[in-house]
Amino acid sequence: MANIRILLPDQLGDHFIDDAPGQIKILLPAKDLWRRKMHRAKAQWWLSAILHRKEELGKRCEIIECESVAEFANSFKEKASVIAPTSFHNRKAFMGKDNFEKLPSRGFVTSEKDFANWISQRAGKKLRLEDFYRHARVMHSVLVDPEDQPVGGAWNFDHDNRLSPPKNVTKLNLKPAYYPVEDKIDELARKKIKEYERKGYVFVGKDDKREFAATVSETKKVFKNFIETRLNQFGPMEDASLTNDWHMSHSLLSAPMNIGLIDPMFLIKSVEKELKNGAPIASVEGFIRQIMGWRDYIWHLYWYFGEDYVKDNNYLKANNKLPDWLANLDTKNVKANCLKTVVSDLEQRAWVHHIQRLMMLGNWCMQQAINPQELVDFFDRLFIDGHPWVMAANVIGMSQYADGGKMSTKPYTSGGSYINKMSNFCGGCVYKPDVRVGEQACPFTAGYWKFLNTHKDKFAKNPRMSQGVNGLKRLKDLNQLLKEKSNTI
Ligand SMILES: Cc1cc2nc3c(=O)[nH]c(=O)nc-3n(C[C@H](O)[C@H](O)[C@H](O)COP(=O)(O)OP(=O)(O)OC[C@H]3O[C@@H](n4cnc5c(N)ncnc54)[C@H](O)[C@@H]3O)c2cc1C
Ligand code: SF4
Repeated sequence: MANIRILLPDQLGDHFIDDAPGQIKILLPAKDLWRRKMHRAKAQWWLSAILHRKEELGKRCEIIECESVAEFANSFKEKASVIAPTSFHNRKAFMGKDNFEKLPSRGFVTSEKDFANWISQRAGKKLRLEDFYRHARVMHSVLVDPEDQPVGGAWNFDHDNRLSPPKNVTKLNLKPAYYPVEDKIDELARKKIKEYERKGYVFVGKDDKREFAATVSETKKVFKNFIETRLNQFGPMEDASLTNDWHMSHSLLSAPMNIGLIDPMFLIKSVEKELKNGAPIASVEGFIRQIMGWRDYIWHLYWYFGEDYVKDNNYLKANNKLPDWLANLDTKNVKANCLKTVVSDLEQRAWVHHIQRLMMLGNWCMQQAINPQELVDFFDRLFIDGHPWVMAANVIGMSQYADGGKMSTKPYTSGGSYINKMSNFCGGCVYKPDVRVGEQACPFTAGYWKFLNTHKDKFAKNPRMSQGVNGLKRLKDLNQLLKEKSNTI
């Protein structure tokens, strides 16, 4: 093994160097990272994580400032090892360069070889998260008994999860969450961001204080606090939103996990043990499903669908530009309470939770035919946990149905009634979730029917959409609805 280990900025944790006793060089490729108007809070947090890692590793570690990973790989001639990068772009940078020993990827539960084996056994069957997830559980003996049967008697406890939030509250009644406390390195990171700005890089959004873990030890504290304060409510409140509770029962671990600060298998095994301490199986299984199922699945689909998947897929022919208010996270003229809350939260900290990404931002953009490639760029730059590998299947596949159903059986779209059921947003809104025409028409409800009408030929034969499409015939005010603007926010 070479005496030098090259780390990319998303390979910061211990499991990226536990077999590397020599020198560590962390790349800081300014152009790759900042050239596309990243969220300011994401830039500050990520730079802080890189600088903290250098400080922790001391003299054996050096930060290499370069323009891009490709520029570094072209000019570096010493022998070094590098762990497979997480994007096509960065893997290509090291191709054909024999001084780099290339090691298999890390930071996921199943290996790329495991996934290839699983796919090869499916003989043309449709891809399904549920099948992959069960396979991974058996393979790693997670939540299965000695006969490989699921602990708790079921593979899935979705029917116990995803409840509406409690009534008449604006916040869940949970013990306080732990958030990291900033130190001098954060100040330094902020100064460096200002320097980048002087060099012409542009950032969007606010950066008041860092709220996401930037070190291994902070990540472990966030995780411990999640188990102590939110794991029990994780399942039931997974899809709920409340106006004064930005993270509800979510773990806040995607950002540190995606830059390698914690090994997902450690999270899975630790949460599995919580069953013995009385944690409900629905929450334990729900959390493990997110990481071992969804996260790994999305990762493997990035490679499986291939480099052109993002660029080539626009099944719904959605070609509208992302509106300026959303691109600039400017909510001053937004009246729709759900969008105002979610986009202000995003402006504040570069993060909102899953259902807000899927059923509020993603849903609105799909109904408004926003171009899916623009949206990939938006999510990648403005979300603290955004990286190219997470975008493909989440944005193109799941959120925008731009691949025509390669990974989802139907588009994730709904009217205001779903948002009303799962949040307290509608009570304080100028629009009414059950109104589809006129001044008080909810943009989601009007948008839902317009969306179905536009794509009725595509969806009429989809068994999960045909009921909605048939419903169009019963709408007495369809003509009026189609004449009105549904993009008023
Ligand atoms: C349109 C859209 C864009 C998304 N973009 C990202 C992204 O850029 N980065 C990202 O990590 N996740 C993304 N997700 C998935 C999910 O929304 C986030 O992982 C989650 O909100 C992160 O917050 P958390 O750590 O508190 O998650 P929790 O709700 O506590 O879930 C636990 C963990 O499960 C994993 N996970 C769950 N679902 C997914 C998924 N679909 N894809 C990948 N990991 C998943 C994450 O690692 C997360 O930390 C996206 C989802 C959608 C619909
Ligand atoms: S009424 Fe419509 S726009 Fe207003 S908060 Fe509810 S879903 Fe959002």
